[in-house]
Amino acid sequence: MSSVYEAVIGLEVHAQMLTRTKAFCSCSTAFGAPPNTQVCATCLGLPGALPVLNAEAVAMAVRTALALDCTIRSRSRFARKNYFYPDLPKGYQISQFDEPFSEHGSMVIDVGGETKTARITRVHMEEDAGKNLHDRGDRSIVDLNRSGVPLVEIVGEPDLRSGVEAAEYLRTLREVLMTLGVNDGNLEEGSFRCDANVSIRRVGQEKLGTRVELKNINSFRFVQKGIEHEIQRQEAVLSAGGTVVQETRGWDEKTGSTFCLRSKEEAQDYRYFPEPDLPELVLTDDFVARQRQSVGELPRAKRKRFVETLSITASASQVLTSHPKIAVFFEEAAKLHGDAGRVANFIQSEVLRDVSTRGLEADLPVSAAQVAALLRLVDQGTLSGKQAKDVYGKMVRTDKAPEVLVAELGLQQVSDVEAIEAVVSGVIAANPKQAEQLRAGKMGLFGFFVGQVMRETKGAANPGMVNGALKRLLEV
Ligand code: ADP
Ligand code: MG
Ligand code: ZN
Repeated sequence: MSSVYEAVIGLEVHAQMLTRTKAFCSCSTAFGAPPNTQVCATCLGLPGALPVLNAEAVAMAVRTALALDCTIRSRSRFARKNYFYPDLPKGYQISQFDEPFSEHGSMVIDVGGETKTARITRVHMEEDAGKNLHDRGDRSIVDLNRSGVPLVEIVGEPDLRSGVEAAEYLRTLREVLMTLGVNDGNLEEGSFRCDANVSIRRVGQEKLGTRVELKNINSFRFVQKGIEHEIQRQEAVLSAGGTVVQETRGWDEKTGSTFCLRSKEEAQDYRYFPEPDLPELVLTDDFVARQRQSVGELPRAKRKRFVETLSITASASQVLTSHPKIAVFFEEAAKLHGDAGRVANFIQSEVLRDVSTRGLEADLPVSAAQVAALLRLVDQGTLSGKQAKDVYGKMVRTDKAPEVLVAELGLQQVSDVEAIEAVVSGVIAANPKQAEQLRAGKMGLFGFFVGQVMRETKGAANPGMVNGALKRLLEV
């Protein structure tokens, strides 16, 4: 981006809430069932069926709003957003419009070592539409299993200034929702969806430029790339003396560019009006207070606490809080072992490579107790660092205690002076030239001898004792 223009970005995020049942009926929300097996008169939009609001969805949406520092409106309304599309059986979506239950929030994000507060316009609840499936041979079908699944929509103020900031905003928001247990954070499967509004303006100009809405970008990389591409496109238009047209554009992964989906003239008029089949949504102080209590520790606070009270580095803290299950695992292992820094290092260097996460679930290869016990064996001198890594490799996806594996594998750190001295003598005898050079002052060769001894003992020799024996026998 040149220094003439500045980018302005505001994101709208739709997140499926992890309730067991749908927003306005008792159908299951379980993912992956055969098409149209989780439907009823209400979510099929049959005439006369009446919606009944899901209390669990309200609680989750309120927790989301509170975690984002929004103010809560004690009385709010649902509204009908009318449009025609095959996946929308009623011909309207129940949403909130001019009276959302919460607004005026904010979220702090960390970008490039700096802290930035992004304002949140509003958080409201709405229902999802169904899904058109085009993979059924010569015809398409409509699957209404998703129709009526509760969504929380988070609308951000146009406070973001780059693709990087937008991606970081999304990452932070996703972490918050996952920590709250409100959403599984799955961009690829579409349970966490984002539309990005992008405009540019001259630096110093206050008035916002004409915006383009980028629809349904399904990965963090594409959010950033799509926005960056769109900023460049708009800049090229303005620099050439043209004007940016308000429109909705899509991101084409193959060409790495955005393309027009529909222009402003084709934009829909949703003819919002109050939903007559639902009463006002009343949120009592008591209910809100209870939700506030169950918000718990948010990722940013957790990161700070890990750094301040467990004394791990900021970057380790960032990595270890990236998924709620990993954070719990680390904290438990740190508590059991006592040295959080060492536990953090070990988890980052060994364990994380074997962890796979899927939504709120994380498949952890070992337990916190196994990690703590393994590191204790190193503390006690039973295992060298290298042996600990080998034992870890054998421990993965078994319930075996590291002590059992050490016995089974016959792996004990050799801490016997005589045994070590015997190996050291052998190594010196086998490398007379190097020994002479070392004695003559070429101390850089010391590491060579340590390495040779370790190789002879397959990493089992106690490193401190090897150092001592080498110094004694080489007389350096
Ligand atoms: P809608 O998309 O339904 O018309 P709004 O007009 O309220 O809704 O805008 C939605 C999003 O667009 C918000 O996230 C807001 O921050 C962002 N936005 C609005 N105007 C601009 C602009 N000129 N440039 C960039 N983002 C904008
Ligand atoms: Mg919009
Ligand atoms: Zn239903």
